[in-house]
Amino acid sequence: MKDGKLGVALVGLGMYSEGQLVPALQKAAHCYLAGIVSGNPHKLEVWKEKYDLKEDACYSYRNFDQIKDNPEIDIVYVALPNSLHAEAVIAAARAGKHVICEKPMAITVHDCDRMIAACKEAGKMLSIGYRLHFEPHNKEAMRLGQQKVFGAVKMVEAAHSLNEVEGWRLDKALSGGGPLMDVGIYCVQAARYVTGSEPIAVTAQEGIKRDHEKFKTVEEAIEWQMEMGDGSIAHCKSSYSVKENNFRVETESGWFELSPAFPYSGVKGKTSEGEMKFPQVTQQALQMDDFALCIKEGRQTSVSGEEGRQDVKILQAIYKAMETGERVEVNGQ
Ligand code: NAD
Repeated sequence: MKDGKLGVALVGLGMYSEGQLVPALQKAAHCYLAGIVSGNPHKLEVWKEKYDLKEDACYSYRNFDQIKDNPEIDIVYVALPNSLHAEAVIAAARAGKHVICEKPMAITVHDCDRMIAACKEAGKMLSIGYRLHFEPHNKEAMRLGQQKVFGAVKMVEAAHSLNEVEGWRLDKALSGGGPLMDVGIYCVQAARYVTGSEPIAVTAQEGIKRDHEKFKTVEEAIEWQMEMGDGSIAHCKSSYSVKENNFRVETESGWFELSPAFPYSGVKGKTSEGEMKFPQVTQQALQMDDFALCIKEGRQTSVSGEEGRQDVKILQAIYKAMETGERVEVNGQ
């Protein structure tokens, strides 16, 4: 803590940390960049200079546990490839730090359980990097759907696809799967936060795989359907070969849609009554500030480890449905 702001140490200094989290920490009101953790000594040196960090605020994975002796670091933010989240979160909790972990929380429900247990045992809070819970258009979609402003939700159609993906995202051992794990998770989130209900069962179909070499261990594309607990249906798709970024909600007496729905900025929304008019925000700054205030005020985060675990459980059910061709009940997992 410094000047009333909580110190955040970033673990994994990749694209998301550098491109989004550091600028957000520079804008945040209740937290700041207090430390870094990386396996790359050169990167540590460059970041130390660039962001004016102290020598003893820069850790490698080998001396990561010494972070426990640094009182300026209150929160560890894990932004590593997906399968590495679990060990880093557990180590951070054992070092006595609160933790934010990027999505997807982990690649198995078992890992999610271990992460939640480690934070509970250490008496530390755990949050998942669901930045859109702090984005005004997405918050409005939550309100419109959950409060049935245009009547009950009947159908959610959501798509999130990227192209030009490379590296660990194409290696199942590190990613846990293809576009579903990476960006399809946003469609699962949208269906859940728009309806305020959970999927009961899912069906899924793998999309056409055109590049068998590139997509050797993960799907290139997937479509899936979710029977939601409120009686609505979600149709979703995700791919690594095109660009899509939207959701549309049909209700009893109207509709609303966000397009684009999930970007860092530039979200736009419309309803059957007109355009949504909300400001653009720095989502990650609001997300991290909210977590800092949760810690200070001793209140629960709305984007908890349990929330992250629920998504991982649904993603696993979707993969099972894709592989078996069967309808899979989410709670039967
Ligand atoms: P990235 O590849 O740019 O960065 C990953 C970092 O992890 C790199 O610094 C890399 O050196 C390090 N690393 C450590 N061990 C590694 C290993 N064995 N293999 C590969 N890299 C290793 O990835 P990114 O886009 O920054 O994604 C990191 C995490 O953040 C992922 O979980 C991703 O899903 C999440 N993410 C979230 C959002 C969001 O909007 N919330 C956006 C992008 C990424």
